[in-house]
Amino acid sequence: MNYFQRSSYFLAILLFALIPLSCKNARKENTGTEEASKSTPSVSIGKSAFGTTPDGESVDLYTLRNDQGMEVTIMTYGGIITSLKTPDKAGVSKDVVLGFPTLAQYLESSPYFGALIGRYGNRIANGKFTLDGKTYALAKNDGPNHLHGGNKGFDKVVWNASERPGQNSATLVLARLSADGEEGYPGNLHVKVTYTLNQDNSLDIRYEARTDQKTVINLTNHSYFNLSGDFSSTILDHVLQIPADSYLPVDAGLIPTGEIQPVTGTPFDFREPKKIGEDINAVNEQLKRGMGFDHCWVLNKQDGEMALAARVYEPGSGRVLEVYTTEPGIQFYTGNFLDGTLTAKNGGTYARRSGFCLETEHFPDSPNQKEFPSVVLNPGDQYVSRTTFKFSTN
Ligand code: BGC
Repeated sequence: MNYFQRSSYFLAILLFALIPLSCKNARKENTGTEEASKSTPSVSIGKSAFGTTPDGESVDLYTLRNDQGMEVTIMTYGGIITSLKTPDKAGVSKDVVLGFPTLAQYLESSPYFGALIGRYGNRIANGKFTLDGKTYALAKNDGPNHLHGGNKGFDKVVWNASERPGQNSATLVLARLSADGEEGYPGNLHVKVTYTLNQDNSLDIRYEARTDQKTVINLTNHSYFNLSGDFSSTILDHVLQIPADSYLPVDAGLIPTGEIQPVTGTPFDFREPKKIGEDINAVNEQLKRGMGFDHCWVLNKQDGEMALAARVYEPGSGRVLEVYTTEPGIQFYTGNFLDGTLTAKNGGTYARRSGFCLETEHFPDSPNQKEFPSVVLNPGDQYVSRTTFKFSTN
């Protein structure tokens, strides 16, 4: 071995001995980074002022953001989801819920865009119901019927807010006392709604309530989705699936007739994925009454089980929305009453069918329909309802 051969030989041995050491250090550095990131929440929550109601109450916006491109903004007025950004198949995040850029527009007139609905989501016939022999008269704000909690429902009040940041999720807690007699309902109802954004691009909504008197309750969220992120397009090309063998036909005032009708052979069969627009204009008395889809589907699931209630796919963007719930029903509404008079957040107006709602709920008019699952809440019992909106791409 000459001098050069000997030196390269020693150099090789030295390198061989050093490599594992440097890898060990590198591993140490990685662990260090993981520890550092644990202390900085990866799902953030921030607050900003949005305005003041005519009663002088301040309204805030809370923005929850994960590092997977999803961002949800919720305001303390009505617990309204004002914006929900989620990535498309190319990774581009866009807002996929209808809403307004200013508080004034929400205060002036909103068809429940993004709102928390209570005490009773959907309709109660003739604005009345009877509990233990006593009849309660509710606000009639939809012709002769009561709709979405009345004239000043949970969508039109300012909620108390608190925030819980975290590593894999962040939570906004909204709470309020709905006083005995509010909109005609009995009992002081303590309500808590939590919105949790997770790292897997899901938004969990948990509704809880307690009462001091027997009452009825049916809480939901009224977000209008357009998964294309383009509010000038309709939702008719979105592909929908609802695992439900039956739905609830309605009368002319959109109150369930009481029948539970199989979807087989009707435009209401979404058991296999189908374009929303495919049968929406079919000649059908129920579609005529709703001016499109505006009905409650009876989900194929066990009472209280958290299960898939709907899946929607928008072919252009590849966005997918899955809705999971513990509720027995889902109201699928195709924005039939949007009429192009409301100004959209990114210019233009919201045309008919530019958004759809998937409202997880107990059946409409249940307080008057004894065959439907009960919506009665007794003192000492806790109302709990959960819904998850999970976003992905395909
Ligand atoms: C109802 C529609 C109603 C709409 C109000 C939906 O939940 O099913 O009938 O017009 O809310 O925006």
